[in-house]
Amino acid sequence: MACQQFDSVADQLQIPVADRDRLKFPKRSMTVALPIRRDDGTTEVFSAYRVQHHLTLGPTKGGLRYHPDVELGEVAALAMWMSWKCALTGLPYGGAKGGIACDPRKLSAGELERITRRYTQEMIPFIGPQVDIMAPDLGTNEQVMAWMMDTYSVHMGYSVPSIVTGKPVLLGGSLGRREATGRGVAYLVNRAADTVGLDCGKATAVVQGFGNVGSVAALSLAKYGVKIIAVSDAFGGIYNAAGLEVWQLDRYVAEHKTVVGFPEAEPISNAQLLETPCDILVPAAMERQITGENAARIQCRILAEGANGPTTPEADAILQARPEVFVIPDILCNAGGVVVSYFEWVQDLQSFFWNESEISDKLFRILEGAFMQTLNLSRKRGIPMRQAALSLGISRVHEAKKARGLFP
Ligand code: NAD
Repeated sequence: MACQQFDSVADQLQIPVADRDRLKFPKRSMTVALPIRRDDGTTEVFSAYRVQHHLTLGPTKGGLRYHPDVELGEVAALAMWMSWKCALTGLPYGGAKGGIACDPRKLSAGELERITRRYTQEMIPFIGPQVDIMAPDLGTNEQVMAWMMDTYSVHMGYSVPSIVTGKPVLLGGSLGRREATGRGVAYLVNRAADTVGLDCGKATAVVQGFGNVGSVAALSLAKYGVKIIAVSDAFGGIYNAAGLEVWQLDRYVAEHKTVVGFPEAEPISNAQLLETPCDILVPAAMERQITGENAARIQCRILAEGANGPTTPEADAILQARPEVFVIPDILCNAGGVVVSYFEWVQDLQSFFWNESEISDKLFRILEGAFMQTLNLSRKRGIPMRQAALSLGISRVHEAKKARGLFP
């Protein structure tokens, strides 16, 4: 998907063939085997990856994912999207991504800590605050980042908070980082609503995934007056046409670890959820959820891609023929996370910390700029929002590579 999107934008931007592989191929791809002692005394080997897509504009930046389906190709695609996302928002980073093929729900806290520390140790030659900075993604959280920071710091002999972002505030994390992606999604939905003439106070939303991104997006949309009528997670979904009490739901999920069983709601499958009529649809779980099979049946006015890669190129082709659906593409829609990660890194490097309103103001200013540039390009060239966002990101990296030249 990532390569297909790149090729189509490269054709449209008329990037010389000689430059394309340089932009496309990941600079560094690491595969490591992690032997871990399980609680029952046995040893199990897990496959783990890190891909650094380009180092042209600064260190690489990107999340670390724990999921059974993680493999090198997926990590490379996610790293490439991170590059275009950072360039679109003007951050001094290349993209990266990492992952361990494991199911974190089936690991004890001790096993999770050992796997995280071993991964960090294996990565030490390839990471650093000026080389590659990790952050949480699917299946990882603040605690995982705290273990990574500790492992790296013990190795160096002094505390290095700037080695990861998305860590606890107590350890040099940034206020507002945990909420940044979901808040950014809601901010951009609000801007898209202005653009298409939708009143958020009368709008309904459906959110797939109720983790970090989905839950905060739902809560933030509710603050804008949007009625959340359906949400789901990996275990199933819930629906209530009159609107779900999202604050109560958030507490319910903290206790039960799933949205399933929440009172005053009917069960709904993930497939039905995506086709539920609503004004705002927020896929905030996994890749490839809106496909050639179901794209014609989604019924929303705004598609806000909280997840990375939730829409396949086949689905995109169908959506292009449906101008009534306004797409906020992933590299724009979920960029709030990496923007506040960047703020966290800057604060750690200068050991001077900002308050939450400074962070929100700076975040919204960057998202506003990226949204307007994308919208203007989309209108000027008559191209879809995704094509416009990718064009901005890819052309900036291309220009930077040309300016630096080819060594030797
Ligand atoms: P998370 O692990 O906190 O939450 C993921 C949620 O999706 C959970 O509720 C899980 O149960 C649910 N889920 C998993 N598989 C599902 C399925 N097949 N159907 C329905 N729901 C399913 O992860 P997250 O950090 O919220 O990340 C979600 C997405 O957002 C990912 O695509 C990630 O790459 C992207 N993203 C995250 C951040 C961030 O700051 N965390 C930033 C940018 C993009």
